[in-house]
Amino acid sequence: MAHYLVFLEPRNGLVAGVSADVWHRVQEQLSSGDRITGFVAGAISPGALDVLQGSGTVYHALSGSPAVSPGTVLCRMLSEFVRKEGCTAVVMAATTAGKMLAPALAAALPASLLAGCTSGSLPEKVCRRYIHSGSVLAAYRPEAAIRIFLQGREHRSSPFRSMERPRYVVFQESLGPLQDAEPLIRTISASGSPEDISEAGIIVAGGRGMGDASRFSMLEELANLLGACVGASRSAVDEGWRPHSEQIGQTGKSVAPELYIACGISGAVQHLAGLASARTIVAINSDPYAPVFDVADYGIVGDVREVLPRLTDAIRDVLRKK
Ligand SMILES: Cc1cc2nc3c(=O)[nH]c(=O)nc-3n(C[C@H](O)[C@H](O)[C@H](O)COP(=O)(O)OP(=O)(O)OC[C@H]3O[C@@H](n4cnc5c(N)ncnc54)[C@H](O)[C@@H]3O)c2cc1C
Repeated sequence: MAHYLVFLEPRNGLVAGVSADVWHRVQEQLSSGDRITGFVAGAISPGALDVLQGSGTVYHALSGSPAVSPGTVLCRMLSEFVRKEGCTAVVMAATTAGKMLAPALAAALPASLLAGCTSGSLPEKVCRRYIHSGSVLAAYRPEAAIRIFLQGREHRSSPFRSMERPRYVVFQESLGPLQDAEPLIRTISASGSPEDISEAGIIVAGGRGMGDASRFSMLEELANLLGACVGASRSAVDEGWRPHSEQIGQTGKSVAPELYIACGISGAVQHLAGLASARTIVAINSDPYAPVFDVADYGIVGDVREVLPRLTDAIRDVLRKK
């Protein structure tokens, strides 16, 4: 029997969408006798937990730093909680905060840290993850009794639905002296895209084929129209055209949008590694043999400087008529 602890990351007073996804994926994989517990720390709005469906209990630590401070309050709270409650696995979203917290927690417990696992890994108690840019699915068998799974976003075939709602409990354990509670990270708001690209439903991404930084204004215009985020290939980031927070791929972010529009992006395996969960891919490229067309659902062969303004106008017309 497994006891899963899902770390629910607060974001702008709500539970981050990626954390809610992780919670529901764990719910889907519970076997008879398994338990699920959620843990959220810091200020959240009333009703923020209403997005969570299914069984289990969610503990809310009202005190403690909402920012993730590896080795300090949150890590200590979680490690004590895991030991006391006898949790066998901790599952968290592979966000920036999750990636900082998980190794500190693994060292504190100690536990095996399994990063980048597919969701099917949980019941099998192994970590299945794609390696070599997505060409091989490897299975890792962890040694420690407690496992920490860091999961990226994945598409589900249908949304998780349950009549049950988790029980809400305020976590009131004494945390001991808090002198090491200084937050190690502070939140700064990035300019550019309105939300975290890893949670975006639509992404309009540009690569070296955009030509220069100023042409990304075409992508911003299209993104504004569609309520989308702007993304970038590593080449565009290396050129200094876009911030690293927008980079998609092996050394950037993994994304799972409903619609991904790749503009002037060749489709290198390292870029595609971040796109495994994208539902519909549209590619605009002047080279009809660009590898991106091998994975695209719809391809437009043409120059982004001509195609993008026409596409944006056409979408604007459609939206105006609605
Ligand atoms: C270890 C490692 C990790 C990496 N991690 C990442 C990663 O996380 N993310 C990532 O993206 N890359 C990553 N890369 C780099 C990757 O291999 C590619 O170099 C990179 O993705 C290429 O970016 P690009 O497609 O924008 O540029 P290019 O490969 O230069 O492609 C530009 C494309 O634009 C097209 N084009 C040119 N002009 C126009 C025009 N006017 N209109 C339309 N199309 C045009 C061209 O036909 C071409 O297909 C990594 C590489 C390594 C070795």
